[in-house]
Amino acid sequence: MKWEDNVRKVEPYVPGEQPQKKGIIKLNTNECPYPPAPMVEKKLREMECNDLRLYPEFPEKTSLVSELAKYYHVKEEQIFVGVGSDDVLSMAFLTFFNSTKPIFFPDITYSFYDVWADVYRIPYEVKPLDDNFCIRKEDYMCENGGVIFPNPNAPTGILMGVDEIEEIISSNQDVVVIIDEAYIDFGGKSCIDLIPKYDNLLIVQTFSKSRAMAGSRIGYAIGNEKLIQCLNDVKYSVNSYTMNRMALAIGAEAVKDDAYFKEICRKIIATRERTEKELSALGFTFPKSCANFIFAAHERVKAQEIFDKLKEHDIYVRYWNKARIDNYLRITIGTDEQMDALFSALKEILYN
Ligand SMILES: *Cc1c(COP(=O)(O)O)cnc(C)c1O
Repeated sequence: MKWEDNVRKVEPYVPGEQPQKKGIIKLNTNECPYPPAPMVEKKLREMECNDLRLYPEFPEKTSLVSELAKYYHVKEEQIFVGVGSDDVLSMAFLTFFNSTKPIFFPDITYSFYDVWADVYRIPYEVKPLDDNFCIRKEDYMCENGGVIFPNPNAPTGILMGVDEIEEIISSNQDVVVIIDEAYIDFGGKSCIDLIPKYDNLLIVQTFSKSRAMAGSRIGYAIGNEKLIQCLNDVKYSVNSYTMNRMALAIGAEAVKDDAYFKEICRKIIATRERTEKELSALGFTFPKSCANFIFAAHERVKAQEIFDKLKEHDIYVRYWNKARIDNYLRITIGTDEQMDALFSALKEILYN
């Protein structure tokens, strides 16, 4: 017997590169190219350093939770907050996916789901997307231990309608269904309105993409009060104080500035529409995206080659050497200037 035999072995999630080089164009991890709401900076400057002596407040008592509750027209008891939605999702896996039956998620999706399932020893079954990369709702309508998928899905960007999702939720009322809405603010319709109707529905969102605050690590879940209570019980059994004082304070400021939030989402959607036209003209095909990225394949040149050559131009996009998607690039929507630099680099790569 060696100590190694008693180690919890997992293959960790591999995030997109975070190159520290200055002046690069970073279109690889779906961050927002615009700064956070102006009040966020003001709040950061006003914060008392001496307060750091003290533990933070319990998250559910903070203005972050009350502002989110007001914004989404739910009770404070219906909101759970965490250190990015990765923390929220991880807690949700630990809390709700506790069956011996497998949980279901798509074969092409956020690549953290199978990692959490492995680390928490949750059995799972992946359901292949159809040939157009769409989720087949029928696949999720048989016995399982829970269901999770992003809407819009990542990395495809494809949005599923609320009606279709409702069919999945209503045929799975004996398990928890988690909808990961990391990208819902870029033109999709949220399933939040279904919460009063289904006590097994948990919606997870994040400040990392549409609220331009990936670095502050804030995510949240919305659901029935009982679900949220279960999440809090597990969370307080692992680590009570995960969110720090700064994140709790500035998160609330970001939610208050709805006009700014809507404006940056609108700008990203407009740039996405422009990007679609440019990419088509360059010979790319892609499914219609409802997210802040486009999942594109070129008619002639291999994705991996484009990926490598873009790096030589200091432009980073995301590529997976994985079955079914190994000829696709996921390109985050940046500013118009960043996208113009991308288009000219692509012209050089594809036609020289
Ligand atoms: C980015 C992302 C997340 C997690 O983001 P956080 O920064 O941890 O909030 C969760 N789900 C999907 C599908 C994502 O793309």
